Amino acid sequence: MTARGILDAPPALPLLLGAVALGAYAAFGADEYALRVLSTAGTFALLVMGYQFVFGHLGALSLAQGAFFGLGAYATAILSSRYGLDFSVSFPVSIAVPVIAAAIVAAPVLRLETHYFALATLVLAQGALVAVLNWETLTGGANGLPGVGAVRIGDLAVARGLPMAAFVWCAVGLGALLAWRLVHGASGMAFACLRDRPLAAAALGLDGAHARHGAFLMSAAYGGAAGALHAHLSGVVSPESIEFPVMVSCLTMAVIGGRARVAGAIIGALLLAHLPEWFRGFERTYLIAYGAAALAAVILAPAGLAELFERAWDRLRTHHPALPTPSRPATAPRRAATSAALALDKASKRFGGVVAVDGVTLDLKAGEILALIGANGSGKSTLINLATGFAAPDGGRIAVDGEDVTGDPAHAVARRGVARTFQATDLVEDSSALDNVALACAARVGPERLTNWRPHGRGGMAAARAEARWWLARFGGAQTEGQKARELPAGARRLVECARAAARNPLALVLDEPGAGLSAAEKTALAERLRELARDGTGILIADHDTEFLFAIADRVACLDRGRLVALGSPQDVRTDPAVIAAYLGNAP
Ligand code: ADP
Ligand code: MG
Repeated sequence: MTARGILDAPPALPLLLGAVALGAYAAFGADEYALRVLSTAGTFALLVMGYQFVFGHLGALSLAQGAFFGLGAYATAILSSRYGLDFSVSFPVSIAVPVIAAAIVAAPVLRLETHYFALATLVLAQGALVAVLNWETLTGGANGLPGVGAVRIGDLAVARGLPMAAFVWCAVGLGALLAWRLVHGASGMAFACLRDRPLAAAALGLDGAHARHGAFLMSAAYGGAAGALHAHLSGVVSPESIEFPVMVSCLTMAVIGGRARVAGAIIGALLLAHLPEWFRGFERTYLIAYGAAALAAVILAPAGLAELFERAWDRLRTHHPALPTPSRPATAPRRAATSAALALDKASKRFGGVVAVDGVTLDLKAGEILALIGANGSGKSTLINLATGFAAPDGGRIAVDGEDVTGDPAHAVARRGVARTFQATDLVEDSSALDNVALACAARVGPERLTNWRPHGRGGMAAARAEARWWLARFGGAQTEGQKARELPAGARRLVECARAAARNPLALVLDEPGAGLSAAEKTALAERLRELARDGTGILIADHDTEFLFAIADRVACLDRGRLVALGSPQDVRTDPAVIAAYLGNAP
């Protein structure tokens, strides 16, 4: 590998350098006490890695991570000191116990919105503490369990000191490798989308509850493993292992190190485990110094230290890897089996006293472009939300390709072949235009695969990106593909969103004001693309304010007035319909 080649292969090189430095320090620079601190940092690194799944990647504030650590520690203490069981038995059980606890509370808890989720996990944590304190015969109550021996696997005992430090950090390495395999590539993008843009994620067929469920169980597994190793390390397990300060340490490490970077867990744990040692000399002002250092880290690197290092590393790199050549999707356009790709039957939706959609019966045929017009507030967006599963109707039914989907969640409707855009563009702002579309390509193949917390093979992302380049170029976004969504002007954002929806190869493509913010030339190009998609068999439902743009491409036009469908027919008929002129067009040509 050339020097440039090595520099271009992150994150392997910085990680390797870090590992070598850590190994050299452990072997040559650390005394018995320092090795203990280092090993403790390793167990916390594992704890934080687990916490990142649920808190960092999916943005759910769990307060149960400390309890998972404690449950793992107690399981190990009970099995190894009471029953003298081998590490090969006690370790898996110490992982299984918190996972089972998590699974029991997961089903009801994961449906809760953020702060209720935090509260529910806090209840789990308190419940675990109460159980430990009161089940004295098993846990030793407030005194805890002393005499947890060293790790023993068959005849092999891992001595305290350097061997144990090496053992713990091997576990950290394995845990890091697995964590990275679980969260990189398309899955990582799916998690970021679920965290930052949950509506867009649902429109791509991604199931947030499914992702959070897996993340919560994985966080418990890592927590249990961390607690088990920590029990062997310290030799005693007391209620302190399961009390709230463990959770606070974990949260602090995750925030300071970096919420969604594996390296962040390691950096956060190493730093926070060593800060008290470094500041020991401050005696009385120790806590103030410690707090100030932590605060400084948060202010200087709000996204975490790992990201700060990553950005510095990116600047060192001489050039960025070439993008794959655009490739036309291999799959044929989806075709509706029935004549109606999407059908509303007497669908209604009210908000308090407002009837936003009032008994609308409308079907979108495969391969047709159906325009939806009406004044502001006439119910176009609400109708689109009903048709795509983003709102449940109060009355009436919704069907996709002849199958009833009334009341189904948006991601389930999306999986049946419905794609949409939003009136206010909904992109993952920190991702590039290309990756926003690439996620749709990756999710099309199997949205459930992206959130099932299993490692996937390599190469999936490269193929998705190659295809995304084709879609973006098709929608006129070739020049902006490398830019972050947040940097794009309004028109470019619309086109990225249209490309993302079209890349799902839907039966029904539903667009809410895609023309807003586009130049005349961009609109003409978009119209051409939509005609092509319709020719391939996609049914397109499109709401917009530019009636000329709509009338030029629509096969049929539907007009809403205060939630009611007042006209439906060919553009010529609707244009001259007195009800439409009265409700919307006025004296416009
Ligand atoms: P359009 O897209 O045609 O401008 P909307 O579907 O956004 O119309 O709105 C239709 C009516 O429903 C409006 O009166 C609007 O104020 C009301 N409405 C839409 N969404 C909500 C909501 N989430 N809560 C309350 N009222 C809403
Ligand atoms: Mg609207």
